[in-house]
Amino acid sequence: MSLDLLIKNANLPDGRTGVDIACEAGRITAVEPGITAEAARTIDANGQLVSPPFIDCHFHMDATLSLGLPRMNESGTLLEGIALWGELKEILTVDAVVERALRYCDLAVSQGLLAIRSHVDVCDDRLTGVEGLLEVREKVAPYIDLQLVAFPQDGLFRSPNAEKNLLRALDMGVDIVGGIPHFERTMEDGARSVRWLCEIAADRGLMVDLHCDETDDPMSRHIETLAFETQRLGLQGRTAGSHLTSMHSMDNYYVSKLLPLMAEAEVHAIANPLINITLQGRHDTYPKRRGQTRVPEMRGYGINVAFGHDCVMDPWYSMGSGDMLEVASMGLHVGQMTSREAMRYAFDCVTTHPAKIMGLEGYGVDKGCKADFVLLQARDTIEAIRLKATRLAVVRAGKVISETPPRVAALSLPGRPDTVDPADYAPGGN
Ligand SMILES: [Zn+2]
Repeated sequence: MSLDLLIKNANLPDGRTGVDIACEAGRITAVEPGITAEAARTIDANGQLVSPPFIDCHFHMDATLSLGLPRMNESGTLLEGIALWGELKEILTVDAVVERALRYCDLAVSQGLLAIRSHVDVCDDRLTGVEGLLEVREKVAPYIDLQLVAFPQDGLFRSPNAEKNLLRALDMGVDIVGGIPHFERTMEDGARSVRWLCEIAADRGLMVDLHCDETDDPMSRHIETLAFETQRLGLQGRTAGSHLTSMHSMDNYYVSKLLPLMAEAEVHAIANPLINITLQGRHDTYPKRRGQTRVPEMRGYGINVAFGHDCVMDPWYSMGSGDMLEVASMGLHVGQMTSREAMRYAFDCVTTHPAKIMGLEGYGVDKGCKADFVLLQARDTIEAIRLKATRLAVVRAGKVISETPPRVAALSLPGRPDTVDPADYAPGGN
Protein backbone atom coordinates (compact mmCIF):
# COMPACT_ATOMS: atom_id res chain seq x y z
CA MET A 1 0.00 0.00 0.00
CA SER A 2 1.28 3.46 -0.91
CA LEU A 3 1.85 6.20 1.69
CA ASP A 4 0.47 9.71 1.24
CA LEU A 5 3.75 11.34 2.21
CA LEU A 6 7.22 10.14 3.18
CA ILE A 7 9.86 12.42 4.70
CA LYS A 8 13.41 11.05 4.47
CA ASN A 9 16.40 11.77 6.70
CA ALA A 10 14.92 14.26 9.18
CA ASN A 11 16.23 15.57 12.49
CA LEU A 12 13.69 15.88 15.31
CA PRO A 13 13.45 18.43 18.17
CA ASP A 14 14.29 15.75 20.77
CA GLY A 15 17.70 15.16 19.14
CA ARG A 16 16.92 12.09 17.03
CA THR A 17 18.65 12.28 13.65
CA GLY A 18 18.33 10.53 10.31
CA VAL A 19 14.74 9.34 10.73
CA ASP A 20 12.05 8.86 8.10
CA ILE A 21 8.42 9.86 8.71
CA ALA A 22 5.57 7.96 7.05
CA CYS A 23 2.13 9.55 6.72
CA GLU A 24 -1.12 7.87 5.83
CA ALA A 25 -4.77 8.98 6.16
CA GLY A 26 -3.81 12.10 8.09
CA ARG A 27 -1.70 10.32 10.72
CA ILE A 28 1.98 9.53 11.20
CA THR A 29 2.24 5.76 10.84
CA ALA A 30 5.97 5.34 11.44
CA VAL A 31 9.00 7.36 12.59
CA GLU A 32 12.14 5.29 12.09
CA PRO A 33 15.26 5.09 9.93
CA GLY A 34 15.20 3.46 6.51
CA ILE A 35 11.49 3.36 5.54
CA THR A 36 11.33 2.15 1.93
CA ALA A 37 7.56 2.17 1.19
CA GLU A 38 6.10 3.78 -1.94
CA ALA A 39 4.59 7.23 -1.36
CA ALA A 40 2.52 9.68 -3.39
CA ARG A 41 5.13 12.28 -2.46
CA THR A 42 8.60 11.90 -0.94
CA ILE A 43 10.60 14.81 0.48
CA ASP A 44 14.28 14.53 1.39
CA ALA A 45 14.76 16.54 4.59
CA ASN A 46 18.50 16.21 4.10
CA GLY A 47 19.34 16.30 7.82
CA GLN A 48 17.17 19.33 8.53
CA LEU A 49 14.67 19.74 11.37
CA VAL A 50 11.11 18.48 11.25
CA SER A 51 9.15 20.04 14.11
CA PRO A 52 5.52 19.71 15.14
CA PRO A 53 3.68 22.88 14.05
CA PHE A 54 4.23 26.17 15.85
CA ILE A 55 1.47 27.18 18.25
CA ASP A 56 0.43 30.63 19.36
CA CYS A 57 -1.67 30.31 22.52
CA HIS A 58 -2.18 34.05 23.02
CA PHE A 59 -3.39 36.19 20.14
CA HIS A 60 -6.00 38.86 19.23
CA MET A 61 -7.35 37.92 15.84
CA ASP A 62 -10.23 40.42 15.97
CA ALA A 63 -7.71 43.29 15.96
CA THR A 64 -4.92 41.91 13.78
CA LEU A 65 -3.80 43.77 10.64
CA SER A 66 -5.81 46.84 11.63
CA LEU A 67 -2.71 49.02 12.08
CA GLY A 68 -3.50 52.69 11.49
CA LEU A 69 -7.28 52.25 11.82
CA PRO A 70 -8.59 54.73 12.71
CA ARG A 71 -5.20 56.21 13.77
CA MET A 72 -1.81 55.24 15.23
CA ASN A 73 -0.99 54.64 18.90
CA GLU A 74 1.20 57.70 19.57
CA SER A 75 2.25 56.99 23.16
CA GLY A 76 2.83 53.28 22.57
CA THR A 77 1.17 52.38 25.87
CA LEU A 78 -1.26 49.56 26.66
CA LEU A 79 -3.83 52.11 27.81
CA GLU A 80 -3.75 54.14 24.57
CA GLY A 81 -3.95 50.82 22.71
CA ILE A 82 -7.14 49.92 24.59
CA ALA A 83 -8.59 53.41 23.93
CA LEU A 84 -7.71 53.18 20.24
CA TRP A 85 -9.28 49.72 19.96
CA GLY A 86 -12.41 51.27 21.55
CA GLU A 87 -12.58 53.76 18.66
CA LEU A 88 -12.07 51.03 16.07
CA LYS A 89 -14.71 48.75 17.64
CA GLU A 90 -17.38 51.38 16.92
CA ILE A 91 -16.84 51.08 13.17
CA LEU A 92 -15.97 47.37 12.96
CA THR A 93 -17.95 45.11 10.62
CA VAL A 94 -18.18 41.30 10.59
CA ASP A 95 -16.91 41.20 7.00
CA ALA A 96 -13.84 43.29 7.85
CA VAL A 97 -13.02 41.09 10.86
CA VAL A 98 -13.37 37.93 8.77
CA GLU A 99 -11.29 39.28 5.89
CA ARG A 100 -8.39 40.42 8.09
CA ALA A 101 -8.43 37.23 10.16
CA LEU A 102 -8.40 34.99 7.09
CA ARG A 103 -5.50 36.99 5.67
CA TYR A 104 -3.62 36.56 8.92
CA CYS A 105 -4.30 32.81 8.85
CA ASP A 106 -2.72 32.62 5.36
CA LEU A 107 0.40 34.22 6.82
CA ALA A 108 0.27 31.89 9.84
CA VAL A 109 0.15 28.79 7.63
CA SER A 110 3.14 30.01 5.62
CA GLN A 111 5.02 30.31 8.94
CA GLY A 112 4.07 26.78 10.04
CA LEU A 113 1.74 28.18 12.71
CA LEU A 114 -1.20 25.74 12.75
CA ALA A 115 -2.84 26.26 16.15
CA ILE A 116 -3.90 29.60 17.59
CA ARG A 117 -5.78 30.60 20.74
CA SER A 118 -7.30 34.01 20.08
CA HIS A 119 -9.02 36.28 22.55
CA VAL A 120 -12.09 38.01 21.17
CA ASP A 121 -13.49 41.17 22.69
CA VAL A 122 -17.02 40.76 24.07
CA CYS A 123 -17.57 44.34 25.27
CA ASP A 124 -19.27 45.48 22.07
CA ASP A 125 -23.02 44.79 22.37
CA ARG A 126 -23.17 43.75 18.70
CA LEU A 127 -20.51 41.04 19.36
CA THR A 128 -19.06 41.77 15.93
CA GLY A 129 -15.71 40.16 16.69
CA VAL A 130 -17.36 37.05 18.11
CA GLU A 131 -19.59 36.60 15.09
CA GLY A 132 -16.66 37.14 12.73
CA LEU A 133 -14.20 34.84 14.47
CA LEU A 134 -16.74 32.03 14.93
CA GLU A 135 -17.11 32.09 11.15
CA VAL A 136 -13.32 32.14 10.73
CA ARG A 137 -12.88 29.23 13.17
CA GLU A 138 -15.10 27.10 10.95
CA LYS A 139 -13.50 28.27 7.69
CA VAL A 140 -9.90 27.60 8.78
CA ALA A 141 -10.64 24.32 10.62
CA PRO A 142 -9.12 22.22 7.81
CA TYR A 143 -5.74 23.91 8.33
CA ILE A 144 -5.67 25.78 11.67
CA ASP A 145 -6.96 24.74 15.10
CA LEU A 146 -8.46 28.01 16.34
CA GLN A 147 -9.63 28.34 19.95
CA LEU A 148 -11.55 31.45 21.01
CA VAL A 149 -11.50 33.13 24.42
CA ALA A 150 -14.38 35.41 25.49
CA PHE A 151 -12.41 38.48 26.53
CA PRO A 152 -14.02 41.46 28.31
CA GLN A 153 -11.39 43.99 27.16
CA ASP A 154 -12.95 46.95 29.01
CA GLY A 155 -13.41 45.05 32.27
CA LEU A 156 -15.98 42.45 33.31
CA PHE A 157 -17.49 44.79 35.94
CA ARG A 158 -16.11 48.08 34.61
CA SER A 159 -17.85 47.77 31.24
CA PRO A 160 -21.66 47.98 31.51
CA ASN A 161 -22.81 44.84 29.64
CA ALA A 162 -19.66 42.73 29.78
CA GLU A 163 -21.02 40.00 32.12
CA LYS A 164 -24.10 39.51 29.95
CA ASN A 165 -22.13 39.68 26.70
CA LEU A 166 -19.49 37.23 27.92
CA LEU A 167 -22.22 34.68 28.65
CA ARG A 168 -23.83 35.38 25.25
CA ALA A 169 -20.46 34.75 23.57
CA LEU A 170 -20.07 31.42 25.38
CA ASP A 171 -23.63 30.48 24.38
CA MET A 172 -22.74 31.29 20.75
CA GLY A 173 -19.87 28.78 20.91
CA VAL A 174 -16.79 30.64 22.14
CA ASP A 175 -14.57 28.01 23.79
CA ILE A 176 -12.85 29.60 26.77
CA VAL A 177 -13.53 32.08 29.60
CA GLY A 178 -11.31 35.20 29.57
CA GLY A 179 -10.90 38.22 31.84
CA ILE A 180 -8.77 41.24 32.72
CA PRO A 181 -8.76 41.58 36.53
CA HIS A 182 -6.03 44.28 36.69
CA PHE A 183 -8.21 46.57 34.56
CA GLU A 184 -11.23 46.47 36.91
CA ARG A 185 -11.78 49.59 39.05
CA THR A 186 -10.36 48.18 42.29
CA MET A 187 -8.21 45.28 43.45
CA GLU A 188 -11.34 43.87 45.11
CA ASP A 189 -13.32 44.00 41.85
CA GLY A 190 -10.39 42.35 40.09
CA ALA A 191 -10.36 39.48 42.59
CA ARG A 192 -14.17 39.22 42.39
CA SER A 193 -13.95 38.99 38.58
CA VAL A 194 -11.47 36.10 38.82
CA ARG A 195 -13.87 34.25 41.14
CA TRP A 196 -16.90 34.96 38.90
CA LEU A 197 -15.06 33.82 35.76
CA CYS A 198 -13.65 30.64 37.29
CA GLU A 199 -17.10 29.69 38.61
CA ILE A 200 -18.60 30.14 35.14
CA ALA A 201 -15.86 27.92 33.70
CA ALA A 202 -16.37 25.26 36.38
CA ASP A 203 -20.16 25.28 35.80
CA ARG A 204 -19.80 24.93 32.05
CA GLY A 205 -16.78 22.60 32.00
CA LEU A 206 -14.64 25.18 30.18
CA MET A 207 -11.02 26.34 30.41
CA VAL A 208 -9.98 29.77 31.71
CA ASP A 209 -7.38 32.12 30.22
CA LEU A 210 -7.08 35.52 31.85
CA HIS A 211 -5.08 38.57 30.90
CA CYS A 212 -3.61 38.65 34.39
CA ASP A 213 -1.54 41.39 36.01
CA GLU A 214 -0.46 42.99 32.72
CA THR A 215 0.96 45.92 34.62
CA ASP A 216 4.24 47.07 36.19
CA ASP A 217 2.48 47.42 39.55
CA PRO A 218 4.14 44.88 41.86
CA MET A 219 1.01 44.86 44.04
CA SER A 220 -1.15 43.45 41.21
CA ARG A 221 -1.54 39.92 42.55
CA HIS A 222 -4.55 38.50 40.73
CA ILE A 223 -2.48 35.47 39.76
CA GLU A 224 -2.64 34.49 43.44
CA THR A 225 -6.45 34.58 43.28
CA LEU A 226 -6.42 32.63 40.01
CA ALA A 227 -4.27 29.91 41.61
CA PHE A 228 -6.58 29.83 44.63
CA GLU A 229 -9.82 29.62 42.61
CA THR A 230 -8.27 26.97 40.34
CA GLN A 231 -7.56 24.86 43.41
CA ARG A 232 -10.92 25.56 45.07
CA LEU A 233 -12.99 24.68 41.99
CA GLY A 234 -10.93 21.67 40.87
CA LEU A 235 -9.82 23.39 37.66
CA GLN A 236 -6.21 22.15 37.89
CA GLY A 237 -4.45 22.19 34.51
CA ARG A 238 -7.35 24.04 32.87
CA THR A 239 -6.49 27.64 33.74
CA ALA A 240 -3.84 29.99 32.34
CA GLY A 241 -2.48 33.36 33.42
CA SER A 242 -1.46 35.42 30.41
CA HIS A 243 1.23 38.15 30.62
CA LEU A 244 1.86 38.08 34.42
CA THR A 245 4.16 41.09 33.94
CA SER A 246 3.66 42.43 37.48
CA MET A 247 5.71 39.41 38.61
CA HIS A 248 8.74 41.07 37.00
CA SER A 249 8.49 43.87 39.57
CA MET A 250 7.28 41.87 42.59
CA ASP A 251 9.16 41.45 45.84
CA ASN A 252 11.33 38.32 45.70
CA TYR A 253 10.05 36.97 49.00
CA TYR A 254 6.44 37.17 47.81
CA VAL A 255 7.35 35.42 44.54
CA SER A 256 8.92 32.58 46.56
CA LYS A 257 5.48 32.01 48.07
CA LEU A 258 3.52 32.59 44.85
CA LEU A 259 5.31 30.17 42.51
CA PRO A 260 4.67 27.03 44.60
CA LEU A 261 0.97 28.01 44.76
CA MET A 262 0.86 28.27 40.95
CA ALA A 263 2.66 24.94 40.61
CA GLU A 264 0.28 23.26 43.06
CA ALA A 265 -2.77 24.53 41.13
CA GLU A 266 -1.16 23.59 37.78
CA VAL A 267 -1.85 27.08 36.42
CA HIS A 268 -0.20 27.57 33.03
CA ALA A 269 1.75 30.77 32.39
CA ILE A 270 1.81 32.59 29.05
CA ALA A 271 4.40 35.31 28.48
CA ASN A 272 4.16 37.52 25.39
CA PRO A 273 7.78 38.62 24.93
CA LEU A 274 7.41 41.00 21.95
CA ILE A 275 4.54 42.86 23.56
CA ASN A 276 5.81 42.79 27.13
CA ILE A 277 9.20 44.26 26.18
CA THR A 278 7.55 47.08 24.21
CA LEU A 279 4.52 47.93 26.42
CA GLN A 280 5.91 47.50 29.93
CA GLY A 281 8.19 49.95 31.67
CA ARG A 282 6.64 52.86 29.78
CA HIS A 283 6.25 54.90 32.95
CA ASP A 284 9.89 54.31 33.94
CA THR A 285 12.72 56.70 33.14
CA TYR A 286 15.97 54.74 33.74
CA PRO A 287 16.57 52.02 34.69
CA LYS A 288 13.66 50.84 32.54
CA ARG A 289 12.04 47.54 33.50
CA ARG A 290 11.71 44.78 30.91
CA GLY A 291 8.36 43.58 32.20
CA GLN A 292 8.60 39.97 31.05
CA THR A 293 7.41 37.56 33.72
CA ARG A 294 9.91 35.28 35.53
CA VAL A 295 10.21 32.47 33.00
CA PRO A 296 13.31 30.56 34.25
CA GLU A 297 12.06 30.77 37.83
CA MET A 298 8.61 29.39 36.92
CA ARG A 299 10.33 26.68 34.96
CA GLY A 300 12.29 25.82 38.10
CA TYR A 301 9.03 25.17 39.92
CA GLY A 302 7.71 22.95 37.14
CA ILE A 303 5.11 25.49 35.95
CA ASN A 304 4.23 25.05 32.28
CA VAL A 305 5.27 28.23 30.41
CA ALA A 306 4.42 29.19 26.83
CA PHE A 307 5.27 32.23 24.70
CA GLY A 308 2.50 33.96 22.72
CA HIS A 309 2.65 36.45 19.85
CA ASP A 310 -0.30 38.47 21.25
CA CYS A 311 -0.44 41.09 18.48
CA VAL A 312 0.50 41.61 14.86
CA MET A 313 0.05 45.10 13.35
CA ASP A 314 -2.78 46.30 15.58
CA PRO A 315 -3.44 49.14 18.09
CA TRP A 316 -0.88 47.69 20.54
CA TYR A 317 1.96 46.54 18.29
CA SER A 318 2.87 47.70 14.80
CA MET A 319 5.37 44.92 14.08
CA GLY A 320 5.09 41.11 13.86
CA SER A 321 4.86 38.53 11.08
CA GLY A 322 3.28 35.42 12.59
CA ASP A 323 6.77 34.04 13.18
CA MET A 324 6.81 32.12 16.47
CA LEU A 325 10.59 31.74 16.15
CA GLU A 326 10.88 35.51 16.46
CA VAL A 327 8.71 35.27 19.58
CA ALA A 328 10.93 32.51 21.01
CA SER A 329 14.03 34.53 20.18
CA MET A 330 12.73 37.60 22.01
CA GLY A 331 11.65 35.44 24.96
CA LEU A 332 15.07 33.90 25.39
CA HIS A 333 16.85 37.25 25.01
CA VAL A 334 14.67 39.10 27.51
CA GLY A 335 14.75 36.15 29.93
CA GLN A 336 18.54 35.78 29.47
CA MET A 337 17.96 32.10 28.69
CA THR A 338 21.16 31.60 26.75
CA SER A 339 22.43 28.17 27.83
CA ARG A 340 22.05 25.47 25.18
CA GLU A 341 19.32 23.69 27.15
CA ALA A 342 17.50 26.95 27.98
CA MET A 343 17.41 27.83 24.27
CA ARG A 344 15.94 24.40 23.50
CA TYR A 345 13.38 25.12 26.23
CA ALA A 346 12.48 28.38 24.44
CA PHE A 347 11.61 26.33 21.33
CA ASP A 348 9.32 24.16 23.50
CA CYS A 349 7.61 27.40 24.64
CA VAL A 350 6.20 27.85 21.11
CA THR A 351 5.50 24.15 20.43
CA THR A 352 4.89 21.47 23.08
CA HIS A 353 4.13 23.78 26.03
CA PRO A 354 1.28 25.69 24.33
CA ALA A 355 0.01 22.36 22.92
CA LYS A 356 -0.51 21.28 26.52
CA ILE A 357 -2.30 24.55 27.36
CA MET A 358 -4.65 24.19 24.38
CA GLY A 359 -5.17 20.48 25.04
CA LEU A 360 -4.33 19.54 21.44
CA GLU A 361 -4.88 15.89 20.61
CA GLY A 362 -2.27 13.95 18.60
CA TYR A 363 0.36 16.70 18.70
CA GLY A 364 3.97 15.69 18.01
CA VAL A 365 6.18 13.90 15.53
CA ASP A 366 5.63 10.33 16.67
CA LYS A 367 3.81 7.25 15.49
CA GLY A 368 0.06 7.75 15.90
CA CYS A 369 0.22 11.56 16.02
CA LYS A 370 -1.53 13.76 13.48
CA ALA A 371 0.51 14.19 10.31
CA ASP A 372 1.00 17.93 10.99
CA PHE A 373 4.57 19.26 10.96
CA VAL A 374 7.04 21.75 9.55
CA LEU A 375 10.31 21.18 7.70
CA LEU A 376 12.75 23.95 8.59
CA GLN A 377 15.96 25.16 6.96
CA ALA A 378 17.93 24.46 10.14
CA ARG A 379 19.55 21.47 11.73
CA ASP A 380 18.12 21.73 15.26
CA THR A 381 15.84 23.81 17.45
CA ILE A 382 18.52 26.29 18.55
CA GLU A 383 19.54 26.90 14.95
CA ALA A 384 15.87 27.32 14.04
CA ILE A 385 15.53 30.14 16.56
CA ARG A 386 18.88 31.72 15.71
CA LEU A 387 18.04 31.87 12.00
CA LYS A 388 14.25 32.36 12.23
CA ALA A 389 14.57 29.48 9.83
CA THR A 390 12.71 29.31 6.52
CA ARG A 391 9.67 27.00 6.59
CA LEU A 392 10.59 24.84 3.62
CA ALA A 393 7.39 22.77 3.86
CA VAL A 394 4.32 22.96 6.07
CA VAL A 395 2.31 19.74 6.31
CA ARG A 396 -1.26 19.37 7.56
CA ALA A 397 -3.02 15.98 7.64
CA GLY A 398 -0.24 14.49 5.52
CA LYS A 399 -0.49 17.11 2.75
CA VAL A 400 1.97 19.89 1.98
CA ILE A 401 -0.06 23.12 2.34
CA SER A 402 2.76 25.67 2.06
CA GLU A 403 6.25 25.66 0.59
CA THR A 404 9.01 28.26 0.65
CA PRO A 405 12.27 28.01 -1.33
CA PRO A 406 15.42 27.78 0.81
CA ARG A 407 17.14 31.03 1.64
CA VAL A 408 20.44 30.88 -0.24
CA ALA A 409 22.27 33.98 -1.38
CA ALA A 410 24.32 34.11 -4.60
CA LEU A 411 27.64 35.72 -3.81
CA SER A 412 29.88 37.68 -6.21
CA LEU A 413 33.20 38.00 -4.43
CA PRO A 414 36.51 37.05 -6.00
CA GLY A 415 38.01 33.94 -4.43
CA ARG A 416 35.02 33.32 -2.16
CA PRO A 417 32.18 30.73 -2.43
CA ASP A 418 29.39 31.26 -4.98
CA THR A 419 26.57 30.84 -2.48
CA VAL A 420 25.82 31.42 1.21
CA ASP A 421 23.33 29.23 3.05
CA PRO A 422 22.91 30.63 6.59
CA ALA A 423 22.12 27.12 7.88
CA ASP A 424 25.67 26.03 6.95
CA TYR A 425 26.99 28.17 9.81
CA ALA A 426 25.67 25.80 12.52
CA PRO A 427 28.25 25.10 15.22
CA GLY A 428 30.09 21.79 15.11
CA GLY A 429 28.81 20.37 18.37
CA ASN A 430 26.02 20.87 20.86
ZN1 LIG B 1 -3.53 39.79 24.93
